[in-house]
Amino acid sequence: MEHVLISPANATILGIPAWILAVLIPVVGIGAFAYIIARRLIPLAKAESDPRFDRIPLRIKNVLKFWLAQYKQPRYMLAGVLHIVIFIGFLILSVRSISLVIVGFNEGFVMPGLSGALGDVYNFLKDYAATLVFLACIVAAVRRIFFKPERYKVPPEYGEDHTAEAVFVLGLIGALMVFESLFEASHVAAQLQEGMQAEFLPPLTLAWFFSKILGGASTAVLQPIHTSSYFLHDLIFFFFLCYLPFGKHFHVITSIFNVLFMKLDRGTIKPVRHGVSEEELDNLESFGVKYFEEFTWKNMLDFYTCVDCGRCSDNCPANAVGRPLSPRFLTLKSRDYMFERFPVLGDIQPKEPVVGKVFSEDEIWACTTCGACEEECPVLNEYINKIVDLRRGLIEEGNVPQSLQKPLGALEKRGNPYGMMEKKKLDWSKDLPEGTEVKVLDKNNSSDTLYFMDSATAFDERLQEIAKATTTLFNNLGTDFGVLGKAEKDSGHEVKRFGEEMLFQTLKEQNTEAINNSGVSNIITTDPHAYNALNKDYSGIPQAEHISQYLLRQIRNNQLKFNPVTDSELVFTYHDPCYLGRHNLLYDVPREVMDSIPGLNRVEMDRCRDSSFCCGGGGLMLFYESEEDMRMGQKRAQMAAEAGANVIVVACPYCLVNLEDGVKTSGMEGQIQVMDLTELVLQYMYVSS
Ligand code: SF4
Ligand code: SF4
Repeated sequence: MEHVLISPANATILGIPAWILAVLIPVVGIGAFAYIIARRLIPLAKAESDPRFDRIPLRIKNVLKFWLAQYKQPRYMLAGVLHIVIFIGFLILSVRSISLVIVGFNEGFVMPGLSGALGDVYNFLKDYAATLVFLACIVAAVRRIFFKPERYKVPPEYGEDHTAEAVFVLGLIGALMVFESLFEASHVAAQLQEGMQAEFLPPLTLAWFFSKILGGASTAVLQPIHTSSYFLHDLIFFFFLCYLPFGKHFHVITSIFNVLFMKLDRGTIKPVRHGVSEEELDNLESFGVKYFEEFTWKNMLDFYTCVDCGRCSDNCPANAVGRPLSPRFLTLKSRDYMFERFPVLGDIQPKEPVVGKVFSEDEIWACTTCGACEEECPVLNEYINKIVDLRRGLIEEGNVPQSLQKPLGALEKRGNPYGMMEKKKLDWSKDLPEGTEVKVLDKNNSSDTLYFMDSATAFDERLQEIAKATTTLFNNLGTDFGVLGKAEKDSGHEVKRFGEEMLFQTLKEQNTEAINNSGVSNIITTDPHAYNALNKDYSGIPQAEHISQYLLRQIRNNQLKFNPVTDSELVFTYHDPCYLGRHNLLYDVPREVMDSIPGLNRVEMDRCRDSSFCCGGGGLMLFYESEEDMRMGQKRAQMAAEAGANVIVVACPYCLVNLEDGVKTSGMEGQIQVMDLTELVLQYMYVSS
């Protein structure tokens, strides 16, 4: 490449060789960046441990999918595409930016491997990348300033609007693209001036446009443009690098690690302390998170990595019904607190309880553990483990919400949150059709299959209909099954997620013993919470199945056949329960069961499958009276009506009770019916006479 202009490495600025500046800027920039990162790592070094170095091949696969391929971004199409353009552009241009830095003191430097044809291809691509990134920055800035999507807004209780920071960073990125292109274009314009063979600039790129604009300029004008655009690019590049760890753009650095160390097992809850076995829990001095350092290093990495995109809160049902919880701000408040307590300059501040200082009790209790926030987060941040840990901390200090004290006491005393006597556990079976048997299993009386009911289905009058339908289906299909009767305690699923770990351990031990005594080889449950608990929170018992899996198998084996739906007015929709769908990925099975019924007209709600909207039942929420504008069940009933459905089919007792309540309290009684999948199947089951 022939140089018509003096390159930055040979130029002088105010009589001083410019290469000195070209060395000084990266030395100071990299030094400052290393110092800032070292300070930012302090809280992580003080945090609780979290072993996330297992299953490396899977973790690398996740990095390729969620980080490199930006898998979650298109869930919000416009913002997602803009982000992907900027991200890919950044990856391509990072090579160019590094070579440019070196060119400042080593004229003619070319990145190894980029000197031949590959270099020409790269140069072609990077000019288009710079142009697309520049345009994406303009669109993103216009969108943030003028259209202000709802999910970016900052309610007054959470501080000031974040638009200025976002636009400032977009401006920095845009400026990097402009100066990089100007540097190149001024050089090409000078070559043309001198009648030389000019470097090729891809048409319609920023550099191409600038070369056209500068085409008539003299060398005396082009030289300062060339030198100043180089140094402005250099300065902005290192300023940007050091600015990243001060706000939401820290994700540019941290997101790859956040994805690499993401949670791999859906539906699970972290142990009270990693490395402390369940048997050793009694020896622990403290449970959960009371001070910031009691979060794990991965929790803190989450805080650093949040992009402030608002997708979590946009999908949070608690936020949607006006509960005092916004997952986005849970993270942003934590990050602000981290920055304040562990500043880049100055002393680390003394520790203090986080509840009261950073979080309110109400926001910690308001979560249903539905997982919508985690499903949506483009950088794979986690919420449920943090919230459960904060609850563990509150419970240890005796801070249990008033409305939950009674059910918790009942769980301790009676093994169920309703406070019902154990002997009443099978009262519902008295109303079964004649000939329908329910065997109670124990050491001397076994079956192949255990029907694990869990408390809600056993004791709630409406939900007992699920138990009746299920046992009738088992009988009709000739399945050898039994129940544990009074030996069955609450699965403890909600208790664990509520933060009452020791109570959960007691319930788990009692159930494990009863299940193993019953000698069954498989377990079926109608309750996704029990399904999740038995498979994810228990060990040493047979694998549990959800009833929908059992029913689909019977359909596929031609054991279960249906009469057609004859009422053409009926429009069905399926509501995905969080603990069947998001936490266990059983989306298709219940739908296939429904679709096996001839003539069944099924429509989908807008929010379905992995973006389903929680009914409000998870995490002991059935008993919690939260401050809210409306019930989640009401909102879900409205969504079903908007989809044109008049029958909502659920596959979870919590959903049944909450959605029926939602239909009633929304004044839609008589217009929308709610039924469990077992009730639907029993209603249309073909029974040969
Ligand atoms: S788990 Fe559900 S309720 Fe809890 S913060 Fe996330 S989206 Fe909101
Ligand atoms: S936690 Fe995730 S989804 Fe929520 S604002 Fe941050 S990056 Fe977005």
